Amino acid sequence: IGVVGSGQMGNGISQVAACSGFNVTMVDINEQFLERGIGTIRNSLGRRVSKQKMSQDDADSAISLITTSTALGGLAECDLVVEAIPEVPELKFSTFRDLDEICKPTAILASNTSSISITRIAAQTSRPAQVIGMHFMNPVPIMKLVELVRGLATSEETFATVNSTAEALGRTTVVSTDFPGFIVNRVLMPMLNEACYALHEGIASVRDIDTTMKLGTNQPMGPLELADFIGLDTVLAILNVMHEGLGEKYRPSPLLQQYVDAGFLGKKVGKGFYDYDEKRKIIL
Ligand code: NAD
Repeated sequence: IGVVGSGQMGNGISQVAACSGFNVTMVDINEQFLERGIGTIRNSLGRRVSKQKMSQDDADSAISLITTSTALGGLAECDLVVEAIPEVPELKFSTFRDLDEICKPTAILASNTSSISITRIAAQTSRPAQVIGMHFMNPVPIMKLVELVRGLATSEETFATVNSTAEALGRTTVVSTDFPGFIVNRVLMPMLNEACYALHEGIASVRDIDTTMKLGTNQPMGPLELADFIGLDTVLAILNVMHEGLGEKYRPSPLLQQYVDAGFLGKKVGKGFYDYDEKRKIIL
């Protein structure tokens, strides 16, 4: 399995694949990002070992199954490539054009996109029948769902292979047709966006919006904390795709845009609606 991108999602997908016994090649644009990705996997496996959820031997053998590369050429022999680079359409399109050139003709190319059309991504390649959405949830090692997205040209064979691979990774799958936001974000993003509007309009503080939704509607995280966790750049990018594809009611909150413009991208950079310490815990 090849994984493109070693960020929050890419390193999680690599970890889960290696723990299920697959050889993994993880690609990013430089060594520094790859080292950070491998470091995150080591820490995550270390926590599992210390909680006695896995043995040190199993953790070591999972790490030994992961190789890294700064070039997409490292993916030439993969049977399945999962792309997990930023939610920017042109970036994904050009990466799929490159993957189509590099990967063997039988390889399946999957995207972990949260919202971008699989049909459009597939149309960049000469193998649209072998392109599919494979949308993992964050944090990947903990969240059991994979939302599979069929593009207009995705073949039944591709769907069946990717479905059984997701099951081999211990995931439960659901299927969505190719409309902006698919299932998860079609339902989730309007709530996160509305929380940003409520904050912008001065209806309540960050803490009170989140406490209300946690204690009042029994969600494990408030919407603003969840937006920070996903990454405010990713939330904005998803809302932009939904706004363009589905209309006015998905227009991103101007406050969200401002946070992204300021570089306050959430937990991954230490600042979003909350501030985070070096252990990525919220500073209250
Ligand atoms: P991230 O910013 O944490 O990681 C993206 C990684 O891709 C970075 O390490 C970056 O260096 C790398 N990258 C950028 N351009 C590249 C290229 N051309 N080749 C190889 N690597 C490249 O982002 P993320 O949160 O991991 O999101 C990745 C994808 O997963 C997005 O499409 C996002 O919508 C989707 N997703 C995110 C979440 C979430 O909660 N964050 C959940 C589900 C799906």
